Amino acid sequence: MPADEAKRPVLSVVVPCFDEQEVLPEFHRRLASAMNGIGLDWDVLYVNDGSRDRTLLVIQDLAAQDPRIGWLNLSRNFGKEAALTAGLDHALGSGGVVVIDADLQDPPEVIPNLVAAWGEGIDMAYARRRRREGDGPMKRLTATLFYRLISRVGHRVEIPEDSGDFRLISRRALDALLELREHHRFMKGLFAWVGFSSRAVLYDRAPRAAGSTKWNYWSLWNFAIEGITGFSVLPLKISTYVGLLVAFGALIFGLQLIARTLLFGNPIPGYPSIMAVVLFLGGVQLITLGVIGEYLGRIANESKRRPLYVVERFAPAVSAAPTPRHANGPGAAFRESA
Ligand code: UDP
Ligand code: MG
Repeated sequence: MPADEAKRPVLSVVVPCFDEQEVLPEFHRRLASAMNGIGLDWDVLYVNDGSRDRTLLVIQDLAAQDPRIGWLNLSRNFGKEAALTAGLDHALGSGGVVVIDADLQDPPEVIPNLVAAWGEGIDMAYARRRRREGDGPMKRLTATLFYRLISRVGHRVEIPEDSGDFRLISRRALDALLELREHHRFMKGLFAWVGFSSRAVLYDRAPRAAGSTKWNYWSLWNFAIEGITGFSVLPLKISTYVGLLVAFGALIFGLQLIARTLLFGNPIPGYPSIMAVVLFLGGVQLITLGVIGEYLGRIANESKRRPLYVVERFAPAVSAAPTPRHANGPGAAFRESA
């Protein structure tokens, strides 16, 4: 065991934070009391994802009081998926990593249950909400529909319903997860892709403690497209079959026109039917092009091979060693040990 290794905590907690100044002190208090109860060495890594408020200052303030706090400041807002990945890349936990939201919707009190599952050898202990407190009926309905859909189209990966990113990932599952460097990161899908043993731990999801969610219906819609295109090519296949179906319909229509002309002579000039057919075909073609475009755009983005995030500063927890496993990214040069 290298000298550093001895200083590594068993569990690291990774918390992506974007405009969370109001809840962070309360969050850390509850997190610390839950983690202390477990009785293992732990640290926490707060990832400031380009917050526009005083989140970074609040984190630095907390870190000054608690040596188990490390922080990572991204150069701008990269989005939750990238922030989470940045945190996972820099997390030191030798046994595993806990992923949790800062807004207290994922109650830290559930972590001991996740740890218990991990203690029994489960690689991916994910928290599953019993009910969605604080979400309207519309959001609940769309969420259910989305998970139904994704479980049907997803290619051989089972994405559990009613679970978010809140989970405990064993070190070996995390190392496998970190191999997936794609830009379009549908985290729930990536967690599922890794495989290994998994178990759901039930809990009651609380409404947000403070601040507001950054999700609206447009972003949820994009999230759904991300999930589907990331894990299935079914939409492309559907385009093929819709095309075939329409072509077949057109053939029947043409035959019927010929038959009518032969039987009843000169047909009435069919302006409305021509318009209907032309518009319908135009619509089908545009939709199909759109579907192809979604995939093409993703290929374009992936082919640029840009880093997933840029680190402005990294301050690992004082009680832990300063060498993360994935010391990549342009920000590596700016790393500082607090
Ligand atoms: N978050 C982030 N970057 C973003 C948006 C959100 O790091 O661009 C963090 C946020 O601070 C919180 C977590 O991701 O800790 C979940 O965000 P939010 O509560 O807005 O999402 P929801 O709970 O509604 O899914
Ligand atoms: Mg939330």
